[in-house]
Amino acid sequence: MEKIRMTTPLVEMDGDEMTRILWQMIKEELLLPFIELRTEYYDLGLRKRDETRDQITADAANAVRKYGVGVKCATITPNPARVSEYGLAEMYRSPNGTLRAMLDGTVFRSPIIVKGIEPCVKNWKKPITIARHAYGDVYRNAEIRVPGAGEARIVFTSSDGTVLEEKLCDFDGPGVFQGIYNTDASITSFARACFAYALDAGEDLWFAAKDTISKTYDRDFKEIFETVYDNEYREKFEAAGITYFYTLIDDAVARIMKGEGGIVWACKNYDGDVFSDMLSSAFGSLAMMTSVLVSPDGCYEYEAAHGTVQKHYYRHLEGGETSTNSVATIYAWTGALRKRGELDGIPELREFADMLEKAVVGTIESGVMTGDLVRITTHPQPKQVNSRDFIKAVRERLEKELDGR
Ligand code: NAP
Ligand code: MG
Repeated sequence: MEKIRMTTPLVEMDGDEMTRILWQMIKEELLLPFIELRTEYYDLGLRKRDETRDQITADAANAVRKYGVGVKCATITPNPARVSEYGLAEMYRSPNGTLRAMLDGTVFRSPIIVKGIEPCVKNWKKPITIARHAYGDVYRNAEIRVPGAGEARIVFTSSDGTVLEEKLCDFDGPGVFQGIYNTDASITSFARACFAYALDAGEDLWFAAKDTISKTYDRDFKEIFETVYDNEYREKFEAAGITYFYTLIDDAVARIMKGEGGIVWACKNYDGDVFSDMLSSAFGSLAMMTSVLVSPDGCYEYEAAHGTVQKHYYRHLEGGETSTNSVATIYAWTGALRKRGELDGIPELREFADMLEKAVVGTIESGVMTGDLVRITTHPQPKQVNSRDFIKAVRERLEKELDGR
């Protein structure tokens, strides 16, 4: 078979520990034999980040803006233990945080559905994608511990000196209070990213807040979503036969549990934090989730939702065998290749991405899987394989599929 040619490079962001090992295996076994892979390579491994004082992360984010599509390996977010382990000059920011801030993006997470790894909620037949607004609210709050009786107020002083004030509470004893905020600019880009993603996926979009209680704050979110929908997306949604649906957050949760999935669920920051963990564990595992950061101007950065699997890496370094799940990392590549194929008009690249995903699903459904899935599968006779053998099994299946075309 002739290798598939690419016209525009993918921005390739390498990472750390066990996922860096998987990254290499995936390229060797599943990509390079079939594609004339063109990438612009950025090593976001912690050593390189330290060597460049993290400039490499900013360079990679700019490259994603330039080319439009990137694929990222999991990376270490330094904490004090990592600073001493790697002798770092600084405790650098999370690379994902840097990318998110520079691309102004929304993160979409979606489960990979495979027979034998059944969702705990038995009526969920299709994936549910969570879109989490990753800016503001309680994550950027100011809080005060009230020592005793007194009055709490919230105050806004505009740059022209006008003051807006609201009384919060008359305390007659100790307590707590907090202020939270968001901006119309950030909510608007969040809304745009959600509408664009749902349109691309051909799925309904749900957004939920609590505007009956939060009559100004949450209503702002609701109104911005409505305005963006009416002005920019209503016609496109109607043409695609999909809908935008607003409801209260408690109603949304109840409907999600009763529904069959197949929707994009836009969540405010805190709701997204809570419900993405609920969904990922109810659907199976973090290693069976796709994750993509989408910027409002249409740049896409694909990654795995899990971390660098440090414990497995140390076992690997000691010469022990690992059975680490590479599915989310493979799907980061297929997502990026498919998007590149779409943008550049290379149908072979899109078909290849589809076939590789089919080979992954087929391998697991045949019973061949890594240890994390063996623990939760309903397959009658699962066969646990090591990290490399799983990828090799996928390659065999992929080759058969490509031959059989
Ligand atoms: P982790 O890498 O997600 O792993 C936590 C545990 O979950 C593992 O020990 C393993 O359980 C299981 N697991 C996760 N992914 C797996 C996979 N692909 N296959 C099989 N099992 C998997 O989280 P962590 O160990 O807490 O964090 C390690 C590093 O990752 C940290 O330095 C953190 O900063 C970084 N991190 C990066 C990202 C990112 O770049 N997107 C996200 C989160 C964390 P068992 O040990 O029971 O097998
Ligand atoms: Mg969380």
